Amino acid sequence: MNLLDGKYVSEKLKQEIAAEAAEVLETTGRKPHLVAILVGNDGGSETYVASKMKNCEKVGFKSTLIRYDESVSEAELLAKVEEINQDAEVDGLIVQLPLPKHIDPEKVTEKIEYRKDVDGFHPINLGRMMRNLPCFIPATPYGIMLMLEEYKIETSGKHCVVIGRSNIVGSPMSILMARNATPGNCTVTLTHSRTQNLEKLVRSADIIVAAIGKKNFVTADMVKDGAVVIDVGINREVSETTKSGYKLYGDVDFENVAPKSSWITPVPGGVGLMTIIGLLKNTLASAKKEIYQ
Ligand code: NAD
Repeated sequence: MNLLDGKYVSEKLKQEIAAEAAEVLETTGRKPHLVAILVGNDGGSETYVASKMKNCEKVGFKSTLIRYDESVSEAELLAKVEEINQDAEVDGLIVQLPLPKHIDPEKVTEKIEYRKDVDGFHPINLGRMMRNLPCFIPATPYGIMLMLEEYKIETSGKHCVVIGRSNIVGSPMSILMARNATPGNCTVTLTHSRTQNLEKLVRSADIIVAAIGKKNFVTADMVKDGAVVIDVGINREVSETTKSGYKLYGDVDFENVAPKSSWITPVPGGVGLMTIIGLLKNTLASAKKEIYQ
């Protein structure tokens, strides 16, 4: 078993991003700038946004956090998005999900200017990704692709089974793995809550991407010897033994699956750290106008 080490790869890529951000500052006179909007006080969202902001500072980006109370109206939020869309000093805008029930996430996602949509959730970016055109790729799948690239994992011709079909992870991941690109060129099976014979399908996978949100969902008996296992899950449980008061678990039973796998991501220390890299790289590309003018 070999570890796909998110800590190592993310630190390495952060150094490269920092060097490029310094060049942007030198040539344009300003830092790449990411704005994040956070609504409410969801514990997970607070942690993710704080980490995004901290990492921006680390690589020499400017970051701005705009906070709203849970009760903010949809209209007010959309007006703020529009204001930031028009702000020439902002390169990337993300609205942390999930949003409160009275706000339609689709409306918010579509309101974000696609040229600043560094989460890559806007239909224009998703459509362009589908067509293998330059675009912002959703941060988590992008981070996973960068990790596969870094470790030179062979994907061409392999059978990749993605578990979970969310708009932010499973579905885009399935498209990226099937694209005529490197990494890519997989034969992809996208599975979900209605899939029949899931265990059998997963057992036939050379590459497994688990994005379900259920602790230890993928067990050793579901994994073929030598499979590459990507664990996207972040399941938080209260813990008395950690300083933070909670402990993170993946969707994969790491202890028993790891000995059977050829490569595997740990949780924490795997995909989560790479997601930040996807976001930083999209923001940098926006500041450099590499994708859209
Ligand atoms: P989601 O919660 O939106 O959807 C879960 C998916 O799992 C659905 O498509 C559903 O069909 C599928 N599913 C549920 N039960 C199933 C079953 N029994 N069999 C097969 N499929 C089943 O998913 P999400 O937002 O992609 O999140 C998934 C996990 O990944 C969560 O733990 C989340 O916290 C984590 N996540 C991690 C990162 C990261 O950076 N590491 C980023 C995003 C999400």
